[in-house]
Amino acid sequence: MKILAIGRNYAAHIEELNNERPEEPVIFTKPETALLQKNAPFYYPDFTKNIHYEVEILLRICKHGKYIDKRFAGNYFDAVGIGIDFTARDLQDKAKSGGLPWDLAKGFNGSAPISGFIDKNNLGDIKNLNFSLKLDGELKQHGNTSLMLFSFEEIIAYISKFIMLKKGDIIFTGTPHGVGPVAIGNKLEAFIEDEKLLEVEIK
Ligand code: MG
Repeated sequence: MKILAIGRNYAAHIEELNNERPEEPVIFTKPETALLQKNAPFYYPDFTKNIHYEVEILLRICKHGKYIDKRFAGNYFDAVGIGIDFTARDLQDKAKSGGLPWDLAKGFNGSAPISGFIDKNNLGDIKNLNFSLKLDGELKQHGNTSLMLFSFEEIIAYISKFIMLKKGDIIFTGTPHGVGPVAIGNKLEAFIEDEKLLEVEIK
């Protein structure tokens, strides 16, 4: 399986990082070794001093496809989850200023904690889903999928032009505003609507 992610998909988050609003989706990948499952703890690595949480809605791809038409893209994911796109912001800022790739800033071990997945038909209107993140019990991020710049279907159609999607792949669909740093000892909790689906302790 592979992990794909879109950056800059919520206007308020683009503003908080002083980024430009993209004409086309900004896509990056994380290796499979970035996955953290079953509420496993995250061990803060020594190569960064500024890891940020970014809570994101996840899509699980359910069949192979390339050059998927936007009209049919909804048939290519069957389940939705929530995850955290951990980002070594210091390494990413350095890479961005040098015009260099972000891979290490986004793809390090444990940088993709994910929840279990929920059948998309059991979630109500997935185009109007609230999701949120708490740090040590305090609400830090709240988003709604209706505010995405690029819809789930547009993301799938766009990625599949370049990279064939396969069953089991996971797509991170972008973070709303409110990103910030984590520290050892913090506990993160991620929710879809009022249901807590993911918990990560920083060790
Ligand atoms: Mg992100």
